[in-house]
Amino acid sequence: MHPKINHLIQLQELSLIRAEQKAHRHGHRLDELDASIADLTSQLSTDVQSLLVRMQKRDSIIIVPMTNGACTACGMRLPTSHAQQVKVSDQLQVCPICTRLLYFEEGLPRNVGKAQRRSEPRKVGIARFSSPGLMIPRLKATTRDEAIRELATKMQDEGFVDDAGKLVDSALKREAIVSTALDHSMAFPHVRGVEGGGLTLGLGVSAKGIKFDGHDKGPTKIVFFMVIPTAASAFYLKLLAGLAETFSDADARKALSAEETPEKMWKTLIKLTKKTIL
Ligand SMILES: [Zn+2]
Repeated sequence: MHPKINHLIQLQELSLIRAEQKAHRHGHRLDELDASIADLTSQLSTDVQSLLVRMQKRDSIIIVPMTNGACTACGMRLPTSHAQQVKVSDQLQVCPICTRLLYFEEGLPRNVGKAQRRSEPRKVGIARFSSPGLMIPRLKATTRDEAIRELATKMQDEGFVDDAGKLVDSALKREAIVSTALDHSMAFPHVRGVEGGGLTLGLGVSAKGIKFDGHDKGPTKIVFFMVIPTAASAFYLKLLAGLAETFSDADARKALSAEETPEKMWKTLIKLTKKTIL
């Protein structure tokens, strides 16, 4: 693997976190993120820097994992010899179709959710990414880590991911960079860079509230837990903006929190996000 791959992955993660903060219309620690991004960028060779500038003009996804010999951004299956190069070469490798940088990493958490059957009616809105089985109206968790574990375990139990433990580790690493707790007692913990499948969302409500970050944001009561393939990162930002818009309204939060069964909470979530998540 090229020695700069980890560096580039970290840089992309920070840029995406910055975009997340902006999607919330929320300037939380933007200056600090900008400084880290500038610092990491300055450590790259001028060649790689100008490559990044060119790529970032198109979109925020510059580097993606290769899974089963295919680019996870565009789906292009690489010739065997090229796939091998991605695994072993110390040169940066790009996808021949979408020209994003590719990397290979073993042991990523896997999304194993079933594809929708053709006979089923086409799903729209938030129903595409979640299911009643991923709703937890009364979280048992009393801490941030427990809440993330409870939601990740639910995802594994419902057959969406293969390894809840890996998800918890990755989500906590992400929390360590900048907390995903926001105003209106909501938090958006997530894991990016999972292999396969699509974006998946679980939702938990804690009536009492959970202390989610080190700052004094007040207790978090609504926890959206998301698992995001790198290629869906740009879409994830739209989803995030939609959820933030819907649930900045106190009545919407109240309606969601009042539901006592997963099925009812699911129906309310769909109803409330009909206009913000298309
Ligand atoms: Zn590609």
